[in-house]
Amino acid sequence: MGPRHQTHSVKVGPVTIGGDAPVVVQSMTDTDTADVEKTVAQIRLLADAGSEMVRVTVNTEEAAAAVPEIYRQLRADGYHVPIVGDFHYNGHLLLTKYDETARLLDKYRINPGNVGFGNKKDDRFNAMIDVAIKYDKPVRIGVNWGSLDKELSTRLMDENARSDNPKPSQEILHEALVLSAITSADAAVKRGLGENRIVISCKVSRVQDLISVYQMLADRCQYALHLGLTEAGMGSKGIVASSIAMGILLQQGIGNTIRTSLTPEPNGSRDREVIVSQQILQALEVRSFAPEVTACPGCGRTTSTFFRVLTDEVDVFLRTKMVTWRHQLVGVEDMKVAVMGCVVNGPGESKHANIGISLPGTGEAPSAPVFVDGKKVKTLKGENIAEEYKQMIEDYVHKTYPP
Ligand code: SF4
Repeated sequence: MGPRHQTHSVKVGPVTIGGDAPVVVQSMTDTDTADVEKTVAQIRLLADAGSEMVRVTVNTEEAAAAVPEIYRQLRADGYHVPIVGDFHYNGHLLLTKYDETARLLDKYRINPGNVGFGNKKDDRFNAMIDVAIKYDKPVRIGVNWGSLDKELSTRLMDENARSDNPKPSQEILHEALVLSAITSADAAVKRGLGENRIVISCKVSRVQDLISVYQMLADRCQYALHLGLTEAGMGSKGIVASSIAMGILLQQGIGNTIRTSLTPEPNGSRDREVIVSQQILQALEVRSFAPEVTACPGCGRTTSTFFRVLTDEVDVFLRTKMVTWRHQLVGVEDMKVAVMGCVVNGPGESKHANIGISLPGTGEAPSAPVFVDGKKVKTLKGENIAEEYKQMIEDYVHKTYPP
């Protein structure tokens, strides 16, 4: 990986973004924040999946009024994940009117494209920054392609049209995004907010645009950077695009916190975006979050669907256990577990893992050798292979990783 882009470090509750801190995974709820019960349940789901910061929309008076009760319930349940309030249009009104909400929220997200025009824009922006200064809160200046500051982009487009060497309009839009974020952050600093209280983001929905824009940001400022491909889309398309865009930037040392913005699938679980963000960082070997399951793709040699079922069961088992293991056991997230479909690569891969199982393929004896730290320790047979293998994993974890 390239050397890390140097940024200021920003404390958000107990979490640090930027500086030498590990890249932080964050996510956002999609509940109505005024619905305390649903919002608390979703924050818990996201935090249990490993989200280290959760953003909630604060778009109405009811939403702003609900924040203290959300905090109360989360704290009562032992959840200390920092909560970020997402403000647009009326953020200046809500932050100044709902004092307790402003005092409790761990960070405010401000979109400079949505705070108004002309003098009104400055007044509203300053009002929010003043609240941040009053309560010593960090802010994210979050610029978005879909709500870019119109005055700024129109001015840059006009200047470009009058220039002798006009640039492609895409370049002007990149410039407008970067300029909007940096000038807003600089204005907040001038107002009195510390550079170490500011994170910036410039979210776009296309991979090449995101890479260009963040390279420009990294060249021009030392504010901590939040990465995310906005409106990345559904399913594999959103995952692939986010992984490529953020993977390339992270490989270049750019990005201090990430969010994978996936369109929810019908009946899909909201915590998927957290798992994908973790997997991006884990695949790049930037951070570890959960034991990695090595599994072969399966082929004509796999005898039954049991191989698929076991792989899935082991993955779900490990993620479920990690909700508590990550707080209790040191280093367990680095564990490697293998589930392999036949003798061709099964024993080899299983020996490379901390614990691995090689299921019987077509024509093989109906037995599944289990390898622990490179040595065959047991052969599982019969109907209870899945349960016995999961128990062996659990025993290995408690024997190997100290509390
Ligand atoms: Fe096929 Fe066996 Fe290779 Fe799995 S390990 S892909 S079952 S040959």
